[in-house]
Amino acid sequence: MTLPRIDHTHEPSLTSWVASANGHADFPIQNLPLGVFSPQGAQPRIGVAIGDSVLDLAAIASLLPEAMQPAAGQSSLNALFALPPEDRTLLRRRLSQLLSDEAHRRDVETALHPLSEVTLHLPARIGDYTDFYVGIHHATNVGKLFRPDNPLLPNYKYVPIGYHGRASSVRPSGEPVVRPRGQRKAPNADVPVFEPSARLDYELELGIWVAQGNALGTTIPIGEASEHIAGLSLLNDWSARDLQAWEYQPLGPFLAKNFHTTISPWVVTAEALAPYRIAQPARPEGDPAPLPYLLDAQDQAQGALSLTLSVWLSSAKMREEGRAPLRLSQGPASNMYWTLAQIVAHHASGGCNLNPGDLLGTGTISGPTPDSYGSLLEITEGGKNPFTLPTGETRSFLQDGDEISITASAHAPGRASIGFGECRAVILATPA
Ligand code: MN
Repeated sequence: MTLPRIDHTHEPSLTSWVASANGHADFPIQNLPLGVFSPQGAQPRIGVAIGDSVLDLAAIASLLPEAMQPAAGQSSLNALFALPPEDRTLLRRRLSQLLSDEAHRRDVETALHPLSEVTLHLPARIGDYTDFYVGIHHATNVGKLFRPDNPLLPNYKYVPIGYHGRASSVRPSGEPVVRPRGQRKAPNADVPVFEPSARLDYELELGIWVAQGNALGTTIPIGEASEHIAGLSLLNDWSARDLQAWEYQPLGPFLAKNFHTTISPWVVTAEALAPYRIAQPARPEGDPAPLPYLLDAQDQAQGALSLTLSVWLSSAKMREEGRAPLRLSQGPASNMYWTLAQIVAHHASGGCNLNPGDLLGTGTISGPTPDSYGSLLEITEGGKNPFTLPTGETRSFLQDGDEISITASAHAPGRASIGFGECRAVILATPA
């Protein structure tokens, strides 16, 4: 497996002539995430976030390596994702040089736009979106609600469980979520009703962006799978639990999940994440080893990431009163039973073709304790234990006007921290 290497672009002492980048919590020069933005009134184009600004790649295309110039002029990242991984490393090194070396400032500075003045779009045309279920504490917690004695089904420790989601309703951070109407049936009711969901929830996930794909009928060997990952975003898989409970058997999630999915618009590249790779946690004693097609020594040694994930809630009343958002949970991303590479290798293992710009959700990432649970279903135990907001309001599931924000930072000893930007959306009432 060829993982991106740590190089001079990751040096913690490296600074940018873009002053706001130095010490920036999300976008210091060690990050250089890619996205798609439009300046006011202009067409979408590719950019890289640096501090409080975004650099227009099309405007500086002549300064980039020649192989990247056509891809840099597009209005989505699909063509950049389709390049060989070595090209993306070259792009990162060049961007790092342009933004750190004062000698390039005169040529580059005019292509910067304040982030506060641009619109951020989906980073890629998403051909297909798949959602997995690799958060083992989430799977256990949710399983316990239904099967207290036997929370994990027997396939869980062999198969990276997933389902095919809906690409058309994936939206960038900031776009409001309309509460879905749907069928739900109370446990002691004879028939369902068709009404707005009363148990609307979020799911804290990472989104994997597929880089180069594979042809139909071919596979992606586990030892090569990390080369097929362009980068990561944050992902909120909004979930209507009451609709889900009624519709999910026997074919799995459908309308309970497909009404909206929010992602953070910046792609933190696999190259940027190189310093934060850690070993995949050892499986508990007695668990089966992954089958050979999912097992790679280097992936086990370096296939997890040192990320801290947080979820924040702010109700309409909290915002009116000028209160800060309430942190609902915080925890590491290392509670995934399967690695990102295993997710990719499994998806293609039967010959399914992945394409550049496909999006793969990890599944809800919960830690072992309630302060690190990644959904309200777990935090309130299916709604049985509501919690209180600073305004005195209570919540078991989301109310109209509630805003959920997911944030993340990557950290490693002796390294700069980098972040993902925001993955945020507010809930709107179901239209009459
Ligand atoms: Mn999910």
